[in-house]
Amino acid sequence: MMLTYGREGCQSKLQDCKSIFRSILASLLLLVVTNGWCESDSGQAQISDLMGKLKARILQKNFDWDLSLFHEEGWLTHGKTVNGLPLIYWTCGSKEASNRSLVLSAVHGDEVTPTYFGFRLIEWLKARPESCKNRFIVVAPMVNPDGFLRYTSGTRTNYNKVDLNRNFDTPDWDKSALHLWKTKYGSRRRRYPGPKAGSEPETLFQQWLITEFKPVKILSVHAPLNILDYDGPRNGVTQAFSDKYIASCESLKSEMKKSTSLLKFHGYGLFPGSLGNYAGKQRGIPTVTAELPSTTASKAGHYFGLLEKATQVFFEYEIDLVALGEKIKISENP
Ligand SMILES: [Zn+2]
Repeated sequence: MMLTYGREGCQSKLQDCKSIFRSILASLLLLVVTNGWCESDSGQAQISDLMGKLKARILQKNFDWDLSLFHEEGWLTHGKTVNGLPLIYWTCGSKEASNRSLVLSAVHGDEVTPTYFGFRLIEWLKARPESCKNRFIVVAPMVNPDGFLRYTSGTRTNYNKVDLNRNFDTPDWDKSALHLWKTKYGSRRRRYPGPKAGSEPETLFQQWLITEFKPVKILSVHAPLNILDYDGPRNGVTQAFSDKYIASCESLKSEMKKSTSLLKFHGYGLFPGSLGNYAGKQRGIPTVTAELPSTTASKAGHYFGLLEKATQVFFEYEIDLVALGEKIKISENP
């Protein structure tokens, strides 16, 4: 083996080395990218960042909540908020199950009791694995983290100051959403439906959860109206579903009502760009909105208890999908 080189030979070897080094670097990079290491590392870092911010905010506001609810493990993400935070969700059970439920909470930034509810619900489900057996449950406990992190009293919207529950892509949006906002709500910022339907990543996230996981029922948790509201198939209002399917959907409502003492069902109406309109009316998915009685953080645990049994009933309830037959509209792309 030749151990010494002339000047020219040495330079040539150096170039060879550089070339080999570049090849190794490129291969390593390819390996990392194809295995998704970059993505999962940065994804986990984003979740750590989100949970750190949530906990800091909770401490800052002196909410007496169990901070271990805001842990970093087991989350799935889809997209990011306007301000770059991950949009998180959690699932249990089998995606193939016919009993598929979706829970959405913390849609409005100043509604802090639903924030607790969503995170607490996941721990409740983890402690009751039988709740997920032969079912599929998706929980998105914090749809609007930007709103929660910057809220002061009255801050309902996302980082773009859009009301996410008026931003869904419904057929009446173009005609009515901005008009209604100006006429009925006096152009108040907290009700702004956005520049166009589905303009906000947090709205698209919720629409994606519905399209991707095809829930057959949806529970959306808000505060502070102290009501249960139902949007979905009902006689004389929604599309022509079979009577049996409509009865099955409406029965979900009455079974939940029986299971909670405080919240009463009350028709709150449909709005352009609302979840109830998007999922309940347009797609025929029975959608229950639970409005907790207040946004007082110290009562969040009590409110979870008030809705606990009704939520269990919601998960257990079997929508009559046979009666839905060929008229299924659930989870069609908009
Ligand atoms: Zn709300």
